Amino acid sequence: MLTPLLLTASRSELMRRFVSGAPVTRPVVDRFIAGDALAEALASVRTLASQGVDVTLDHLGEDITEPAQARRNRDSYLALLAALGGEGLGDRAEVSVKLSAFGQSLPDGHRLALDGVRAVCEAAAAIGTTVTLDMEDHTTVDSTLAILAELRRDFPRTGVAVQAALFRTEQDVRALALPGSRVRLVKGAYKEPASVAHQRKEDVDRAYARCLNVLMAGDGYPMVGSHDPRIIDLALRLAERYGRGPDSYEFQMLYGIRDAEQRRLAAEEHRRVRAYVPYGSDWYGYFMRRLAERPANLVFFLRSFLIRR
Ligand SMILES: Cc1cc2nc3c(=O)[nH]c(=O)nc-3n(C[C@H](O)[C@H](O)[C@H](O)COP(=O)(O)OP(=O)(O)OC[C@H]3O[C@@H](n4cnc5c(N)ncnc54)[C@H](O)[C@@H]3O)c2cc1C
Repeated sequence: MLTPLLLTASRSELMRRFVSGAPVTRPVVDRFIAGDALAEALASVRTLASQGVDVTLDHLGEDITEPAQARRNRDSYLALLAALGGEGLGDRAEVSVKLSAFGQSLPDGHRLALDGVRAVCEAAAAIGTTVTLDMEDHTTVDSTLAILAELRRDFPRTGVAVQAALFRTEQDVRALALPGSRVRLVKGAYKEPASVAHQRKEDVDRAYARCLNVLMAGDGYPMVGSHDPRIIDLALRLAERYGRGPDSYEFQMLYGIRDAEQRRLAAEEHRRVRAYVPYGSDWYGYFMRRLAERPANLVFFLRSFLIRR
């Protein structure tokens, strides 16, 4: 019941102003966001790298309404990549982008987003790293996969996230399980209608297992984006079944969630692990999706509200 409400709130301007403006919100936000500034994001990369965990950095921002915002977001990524290159961190960190931050839903959005992300891919390639396209709600999937296909012609290591919750994803992963294709499989963080997506958690989990099997059996590079211990265990078993070495796939988890497990997989299991590290001041949508995923986070958030008032 709470999850759909929170996901609806994640797109409400009124709620954005209320939650973002409340002083007590910040300590809870800090659990999930590395900081507002680039320097804080770089510090996180250094800390995680010292623990054997690689990173994908997300400069927060989504659902923009003006082309000028798309250019600002592109420039933020260019500054980020220049800073990573300057510190020699290109081999430890890649970047994740949301196409809605690059203007995907604006008029002529396909071209606008493609041009913006192409500049980011060029800057990433120049420092020896790459870009992964996050996946947003189901209305964006065709456009995102079309942009991926165009980018991959020049930047074949460009990756994409796909969501097990969507019915179509079982077909999509078959088409994506190609040599060199980097695919991050996630459960899906958006509120989707029953006409396009599984609604029950058990059905999403089962769909995830089927998609993971296709990716692990295929020729691409699967990125297992989940904190779910059963999924992690399944990925390890599938890797063994299909003879995949530890360098032929990776685990990905979000900053601030199951940190000890991230370090354990890297240090004890010798697996490649990447933390998804968001930073920037436009954290509202990302933060609300994290609350929606886990009611305990909401309880923690509300308690901090009550205690401090
Ligand atoms: C690296 C990465 C990138 C992602 N990119 C996208 C994307 O591009 N598009 C998209 O739609 N979704 C994305 N997601 C989010 C994803 O779709 C899920 O909503 C999220 O990962 C929760 O699902 P789960 O697989 O961890 O399993 P769940 O069954 O939801 O959780 C399993 C366990 O993980 C822990 N956990 C999970 N979520 C939280 C949380 N918020 N707070 C605290 N503990 C938690 C709990 O211990 C929980 O029991 C991404 C997730 C990851 C890890």
